Amino acid sequence: MNDPLVYLNGEMTPLSEAKIPVLDRGFIFGDGVYEVIPIYGRRMFRSEQHMARLFRSLDKIGIPNPHDLAGWMALIRQVVDASPDDEQMVYLQVTRGVARRAHAFPAEVTPTVFIMTNPLVLPSAEVRSKGVACVTMDDKRWLHCEIKSVSLLGNVLAAQHAAENQVTEAIQFRDGMLTEGSSSNVWIVKDGVLAGPPKDNLILEGIRYGLIQELCEGLGIPMQVRRISREEVFAADEVMISSATKEVLPVTRIDGQPVGNGAPGPIYAKLYEAYQAAKAAA
Ligand code: PMP
Repeated sequence: MNDPLVYLNGEMTPLSEAKIPVLDRGFIFGDGVYEVIPIYGRRMFRSEQHMARLFRSLDKIGIPNPHDLAGWMALIRQVVDASPDDEQMVYLQVTRGVARRAHAFPAEVTPTVFIMTNPLVLPSAEVRSKGVACVTMDDKRWLHCEIKSVSLLGNVLAAQHAAENQVTEAIQFRDGMLTEGSSSNVWIVKDGVLAGPPKDNLILEGIRYGLIQELCEGLGIPMQVRRISREEVFAADEVMISSATKEVLPVTRIDGQPVGNGAPGPIYAKLYEAYQAAKAAA
C-alpha cells in the first residue's frame, strides 16, 4: 500500500504508523479545526488565505495557535516535499489535544497537529464539459458553519445524501435560502450577474469565494453577495460550485431538472479560464 510520510506532533512518520491517543478531544468531541490547501506544480495556492482562515477557526474555538505562519509553512513544506506528486491537496488538522474526558476545556493541554497530503484529483475534462448533477436538502447543521471544524456530521450526512442519489453534491437551504454544498460554495447566474450567499455564520467562506470575487472584478462580471432563494436557484441560467478540489464546476441538473439550457454556461467558461490563469500566475 502507498504509505506516505505525514507530520504528527513534531515528527514525520509513515501514515500507517501515525497514531493518536483515544482521549484526543478530536476523537472524543470533534473538538478541532482543519484546512485543505491545493498544491499546483509543488507550490501552495493561496496559502496566506488558507492560513488566515485556519487562524480564525482556531481563534473562534479558543485553541492556542501552536505555530506562527513561518512555522506552519515550514511544516507543510516538509510534507509536500516528501510526496512524489506535483499536484497535491494538503490536509492539516489541529485538535485541542489529549485530556481526561470532560466537556469544558482542560486547563493545560497541548494541541495535536497533524498534516498529510494526497494527490489532487481534479474533475476530468469530460465531467467539466457535461457539468454535474446535484440534489437539494434542508441545511441541518449548527449555526457556526464559518468555523472550519472537524465536527462535520451535518456535512457528512449531506454528502451521503448526494452519494445515495448518485450525484456530486447536496445543495443546502436554510429557511428556503441557499447556504452551500456539503463541501463547496454555491453560485448562481441570472441575466449575466453572478450571485453568492452572504459570508456570514451560515456558510464556510471558501478560499475560492474571495478568488471568484477577484476574477469577476477582473472579467467585468457583475457580482452580488446576497440572500438567494430556492426559487432563484431553480430559475437560474447557470449554477456553479467551488472548492479547493473542484475549483469551479458547472452544475447542470438539480433534483433531476436541467439548469438553464442544461449545459455549462458562458460565465462558468470565463471563470474557469480565469481560474486556470490565476493558477499559472501564482
Ligand atoms: N463550504 C464547505 C462546507 C466546505 O467544506 C468547503 C471546502 N473546504 C467549501 C465551502 C469551499 O472552500 P474552499 O474554496 O476553501 O475549498
